[in-house]
Amino acid sequence: MLSLLRRITQEVTGAQSLQAALDIIVRRVRRAMRSEVCSIYLVDPNSQDYILMATRGLNADAAGKLSLKADEGLVSLVGRRAEPVNLEDAHTHPSFHYLSGTGEERYKSFLGVPIIHHRQVLGVLVVQHEDRRRFDEGEEAFLITLSAQLAGVIAHAEATGAMESLTPDAPSPGADLRYKGIPGSAGVAIGKSQVVFPPADLDAIPDRVPQSVDDEVDNFYQALDAVRKDIRKVSSRLSKHISNDEKALFDVYLKILDDNSLAAEIVNRIKDGNWAPGALRQVVKLHISFFEKMDDPYLRERASDIRDLGRRILAHLQEKNPAASEEIVDPVILVSEELTASMLGEFPLDKVKGLVSVMGSSSSHVAILARAMGIPTVMGAVDLPYAKLDKIDMIVDGYSGQIYTHPSEAITESYQQIVDEERELESEYEALKDLPCETLDGQRIGLYVNTGLLADINRSLDRGAEGVGLYRTEVPFMIRDRFPTEADQEQIYRQQLEGFAPAPVTIRTLDIGGDKALPYFPIKEENPFLGWRGIRVTLDHLEIFMAQIRAMIKASSGLHNLKIMLPMISNIAEVEEALALIRRAYAEVKEEGYDVIMPKVGVMIEVPSAVYQAKELAGMVDFMSVGSNDLTQYLLAVDRNNSRVAGLYHNFHPAVLRALADIVERTRGEGVKLSVCGEMAGDPIGAILIMAMGYDTLSMSSTSLPKVKAVLRKLTMQQAQDMLAQVMPLAHSDAVKQTMMKLVREAGVERLIRPSKTADL
Ligand code: PEP
Ligand code: MG
Repeated sequence: MLSLLRRITQEVTGAQSLQAALDIIVRRVRRAMRSEVCSIYLVDPNSQDYILMATRGLNADAAGKLSLKADEGLVSLVGRRAEPVNLEDAHTHPSFHYLSGTGEERYKSFLGVPIIHHRQVLGVLVVQHEDRRRFDEGEEAFLITLSAQLAGVIAHAEATGAMESLTPDAPSPGADLRYKGIPGSAGVAIGKSQVVFPPADLDAIPDRVPQSVDDEVDNFYQALDAVRKDIRKVSSRLSKHISNDEKALFDVYLKILDDNSLAAEIVNRIKDGNWAPGALRQVVKLHISFFEKMDDPYLRERASDIRDLGRRILAHLQEKNPAASEEIVDPVILVSEELTASMLGEFPLDKVKGLVSVMGSSSSHVAILARAMGIPTVMGAVDLPYAKLDKIDMIVDGYSGQIYTHPSEAITESYQQIVDEERELESEYEALKDLPCETLDGQRIGLYVNTGLLADINRSLDRGAEGVGLYRTEVPFMIRDRFPTEADQEQIYRQQLEGFAPAPVTIRTLDIGGDKALPYFPIKEENPFLGWRGIRVTLDHLEIFMAQIRAMIKASSGLHNLKIMLPMISNIAEVEEALALIRRAYAEVKEEGYDVIMPKVGVMIEVPSAVYQAKELAGMVDFMSVGSNDLTQYLLAVDRNNSRVAGLYHNFHPAVLRALADIVERTRGEGVKLSVCGEMAGDPIGAILIMAMGYDTLSMSSTSLPKVKAVLRKLTMQQAQDMLAQVMPLAHSDAVKQTMMKLVREAGVERLIRPSKTADL
């Protein structure tokens, strides 16, 4: 049963269009269930009618033409109840409605199951029989399972129009296609898209119009030749060690390659206007889906041979044309299935005006990086047909999380007004650069920056930061191919410390694990965010921890502005152990003759256990900084990187607000300085609430800092506290957000938070 389900799903996923996918479903389900009829009805998003999209058994001409109203018939009953309806004799049911023209009058028994994706009923899958007999529980369970698996594929196909089709039916300029994602970094970008993809991943290759068809054909034949040679070489190298049967496999590979029809198909697609990697992807996927449909297990296996060969040819094509050497359009919007920090590193960032990632959410580290760099970003755009969006006009709205492709002049004009308004606001913020962050009634709050990139230093000073509240040391570790030495690190940290001296710089010890991996130190875990992360890794590797601490202390020689921060603390023992090691490192460095003082040491509060032990922790350290990104993730049990649950991730969840207020209460009178350094601190609304709770400092990206300062300077502490008092009792995150938007509007600072024009879109 499992393998049947898997095969049907695979076949549907490989379909060339929504209609083809639906036709496969009805054909395969009818056969698998030995039913006389199988049909799919999809909900028309405008009329809410159920349209008969595909059928086997009913009149085939009716497909696409007949529909049922939202309150008509058994199909809509299944949809309304969002539950299966299983009837021995459908005709006697009060909701039965005969859909004339389908020929369904003969069929008595009826089983309909809803197709549900993300709580939304997309349609209904129906099987019918002539005999009067109820479908049994096993059949019902099979149909429910299949429908649940297919819902995602259908939703994607519906959202994207078609799964696979090249330029002929590409949308025309001005079509204004809109896709929804999650706001990743505020701002608007208008530019041309460029799809970026990891090397040797055939599925991620976009379609692209080639500059020269002849060159693409040449490249393809050269790659084909290179693969042929590789295979012959491997085959002869192994010939002594493998049997003739096994050797025959290589012959199969060579036969596939020599078979002119495969190459000819690819060349034809190139001539139709796709570049070689795109043509290769199309043809290889077509053949894979063809083989996967085979009942014969031997032939089905050929699908993986084709996939393997496709990858090999692609690797040779990419060797010739590495992504990084491609010409970059300016301004460019990078689009990827899964954008990573290292991908960003391959592009000249001054030309990158926007980012779009199909996977991930607003608290993914790549989104944090984007905010630090002030690049408008949309994450989690799960329905974006990214493979078809290379080098087209695009608008990224990082305020609302929307992406427009093929935008019309009118929409481009509206967004251009937002860009202009943003520019004006920027110059307003600029005027505040040298002024302190002080409320109207004279209360000071420290505004610090989060850093990690070298470019951050100048940018942050430029924006009036009072110091560094969080220096993420992962970044210098990530961009190397081995652990940096103590001397390497000393030099890197020195630049930060010197750059900001005499202002304090809070350097966090390495926080790898979770979604931050080092290429040379892979950590493979089922549940990485609950696994070996942050302080847990470094305390298990004293050589890494001690080298890092010594490098930090040495780098602070003569400057005395270092603060050390420990991430992911979940118990007291970790702090005791780390403090002892820091003291040891300090003594060693001092003995070596460096002019250093014992740095202040603090912990991050980002795990719920640390909230409840805040008082004990406060007694051990000099300062505490709340990592609201992780604290939200762990309090709400929502993976910060998972686009499927991104809708549940709320910094303004009442539980998060209460935890933040609780930390202040629990540490009162302990003489510890309190800060928040998660993304919430850089959101003006979050900043108002955190300040009102009594935190001493806020640390955020340098991009957010001027905006937060502009807003806090326009309010009194009393106003902020009144706002806090109004939202603390609220039970829903949305109510908190909406109430705060209303209150900032009344206080006259909404304009500083987001350009007024965004409200029109
Ligand atoms: C946090 O968790 O809020 C934080 C600041 O750390 P990071 O985002 O690097 O995990
Ligand atoms: Mg964290």
